[in-house]
Amino acid sequence: MSDASQKEKLRQHFARRVTTQARVVLDTWQNIHTSSGSFPAHREELLSASDKLVRYAQRFEMSDHANAGTKILEALSSWSPETAPGDATHQKLQDAFDALARNTLRRNDHHNAEAPHQFRRTPVYIALDNAEMASRLIRQLEYFGFRAAAFDSAKELIDACALHKPETILMDVNFGNGGNTGIATIEHLQERHDTPVPIIFMSDEDGTIQTRLRASRCGGEEFFYPAVDPGQLIEKIETYTHSNTVEPYRVLVLDDSRAQAKFMETVLKKAGMTAHIITDPMEIIHALDTFSPEIIILDMYMPGCTGMEIARVIRQQDRFHSVPIIYLSGEEDVTKQLHAMSLGGDDFLTKPVDPKHLIATLHNRGRRARSLLALMIRDSLTGLYNHTHTLHLLDQEIVRAQQKGQSLCFAMIDIDFFKQVNDTYGHPIGDRVIRSLSMFLKQRLRKTDHIGRFGGEEFAIILPDTRPNDARNVLNEIRERFAELRQPAGGTEFNVTFSCGVAAWDNDPSHTLCERADRALYKSKALGRNCVTLADS
Ligand code: GH3
Ligand code: MG
Ligand code: MG
Repeated sequence: MSDASQKEKLRQHFARRVTTQARVVLDTWQNIHTSSGSFPAHREELLSASDKLVRYAQRFEMSDHANAGTKILEALSSWSPETAPGDATHQKLQDAFDALARNTLRRNDHHNAEAPHQFRRTPVYIALDNAEMASRLIRQLEYFGFRAAAFDSAKELIDACALHKPETILMDVNFGNGGNTGIATIEHLQERHDTPVPIIFMSDEDGTIQTRLRASRCGGEEFFYPAVDPGQLIEKIETYTHSNTVEPYRVLVLDDSRAQAKFMETVLKKAGMTAHIITDPMEIIHALDTFSPEIIILDMYMPGCTGMEIARVIRQQDRFHSVPIIYLSGEEDVTKQLHAMSLGGDDFLTKPVDPKHLIATLHNRGRRARSLLALMIRDSLTGLYNHTHTLHLLDQEIVRAQQKGQSLCFAMIDIDFFKQVNDTYGHPIGDRVIRSLSMFLKQRLRKTDHIGRFGGEEFAIILPDTRPNDARNVLNEIRERFAELRQPAGGTEFNVTFSCGVAAWDNDPSHTLCERADRALYKSKALGRNCVTLADS
């Protein structure tokens, strides 16, 4: 990738962060208008959110946002929540917000339309009677990169849902007037959606089976009773917001007929899958290495070799031992089909293939393969890649960086004084901290970055197509934000920091790259922890 396009990609990545912060500012301003009464806390909230916006925008060179944010800060200096809407100070502030809204909403939303998975973040709605709890949750969620909004009445919530279907709603069963009015509101809401919104219910006072049943029947996925722990809640919200985005399946097709291959490509793309087509069987090894398919479709008869022979060669590689293989052929003889299946195939489709049948088969095979693979390559506590798989991905990314002439960075993270966390608050809280860092990394890194848990309280991150200084800046930003995060533990809260070492790939093998990152990490520890060190090349 060229220098310019790499810069552009990074710019987009950072632009998203600035835009998210701009939305937080706008939401806060909106909340002031929709909530009844006025609180000095509102002004504080606006000030700190706008200040953060200006800092982000300056750091990532987005001058429009920086200017709009500065104007807001200026106008805020002479404004208080009691200022009447007709007042000149109020008008000045409103103008500044309007300018920010123009910069933020239209251009960027439009701009990002091509990459919906990466950029769209639908809101999380919160409907609790306890306003303080709600605003605390919103702050926590924002740290994790979610957009959250709280509501004071059922009507506001219903209106907001009509405008924007949320990813999930956190609902007090008695929201509003008691007597399960919260559940009634949800029952009403769900009627308007074809697919129900997943709901997280909570209650301080009512945990009866009748209430739980009614909650579950209208889309209640969780029921927290009696008290909610913000950490646990955020984990649940994570679950419901992530299951919505399914990565497209990567399907490799080998068919010597160019026309047939083209046809398959069209069908697969239409179904939202990522297709890679080859017509020469001798290219199979290269395709496996570079494309890393999740499902393979093989033609049975090709010049030079058969699909069954290719399947055996594929199965000889550990990594592709369980990848589903589907044969495709005009062969109608069932005995021959069975024979082919016994040689490492999983399914058999006869030509001409019915596209619907093909896609259904691929979905079934793909789903199952993914859940099996997840067990093999993921860490059970965090859902991140395990040690072995992370190293495998690193090798793969090195090959890719070499081919494309791109830079590549590898980072190692270790939580500071983690033993003390365990000793002071107990092992389960320690586990919660590990999960919170893992979620934090998932939310803040790009989809193309790979995040692994190396073991214990150690993490590894692969940043493809990233230059050393950029990697260091991104990780430093994450480090700062993570250190601000309040970790809840029973009645109290505490902060945790981490140290990090980053190494840029220097045409060295993966184990050397890891060692360099590790040494840089230990330099960070020696320098007093809570910092990021870039390894020498
Ligand atoms: P440093 O700043 O030097 O990294 O100090 P530290 O206390 O973080 O480092 P140390 O390696 O001495 O301690 C790591 C601790 O992490 C020891 C171990 O009990 C704990 N630990 C490892 N894996 C887990 C886990 O899965 N869950 C929990 N709760 N603790 C873990
Ligand atoms: Mg540690
Ligand atoms: Mg350690």
